[in-house]
Amino acid sequence: MTTNRDALLADLRNQALCIRRNVWRALHAATNGHVGGSTSAADLFAALYFHHLRLRPDEPDWPDRDRFVLSKGHANAGLAAVLAQAGFFDEAWLDRFYGFESPLGMHPDIKVAGVEMSTGGLGHGLSVGMGMALGARLQKKDFRTVVMLGDGELQEGSSWEAAMAAAQHKLSELTAIVDYNKIQQSGHVTDMIDLDPLADKWRAFGWAVREIDGHEMGVIVDTLDDLPFAADQPSLIIAHTVKGKGVSFAEDTYAWHSNFVTDVLYQQALDELGEPA
Ligand SMILES: [Mg+2]
Repeated sequence: MTTNRDALLADLRNQALCIRRNVWRALHAATNGHVGGSTSAADLFAALYFHHLRLRPDEPDWPDRDRFVLSKGHANAGLAAVLAQAGFFDEAWLDRFYGFESPLGMHPDIKVAGVEMSTGGLGHGLSVGMGMALGARLQKKDFRTVVMLGDGELQEGSSWEAAMAAAQHKLSELTAIVDYNKIQQSGHVTDMIDLDPLADKWRAFGWAVREIDGHEMGVIVDTLDDLPFAADQPSLIIAHTVKGKGVSFAEDTYAWHSNFVTDVLYQQALDELGEPA
């Protein structure tokens, strides 16, 4: 017997597959781009936009909407894919990704419906997300703010300033998700500036922390449903993921942080990903 939960998870997995296919589609159109971090976060994007966040794609400035900030802005192909799938704009825009006068650049632009912050310069999203969460409190609104961070991004000291301040304000309205794919632009995080013990660091900074498999949809949904994790602390989800997830030659290698997507590689990627339901 198929339960409502089974149907939800099947739908979210299918959305995640569509996000991955659309990431490759957009970056093939662009000829190159950030495949790795866009596809590592695909399951998280699907669960956020098709289950967790309260949004109105036909009213993108609805004051009570939940806010999502993609602080790791180089994953904009993933954000653009999920925004298109959710109906914020036409999916055909993906075929002009990073093109001349395209609304979709390599990094998010606040002029695009559904984008809450122009990002790309790393280390700023958590501070701005904290401001959005404080804004909800000051306006006595109940919208939630979710910020997605990259692991390499956490080498930016400004991220930790925001972490300290959010705990000081007991901002349970704020959630951060680390897309912990263990790889940054130039290599493995452990070989650049290691982050571990990452969960202990966030706990020491006053956050309520959970670690999950960022590709296991049932776990992602249950974790999002449990937010906030504490009544008087901001929440952090460390999502263990695989960079380039879904396509063998792109998985777990910094070569696919950003790379050229040729016609041949694009077809291989689609073949490996398979058709959506
Ligand atoms: Mg990374």
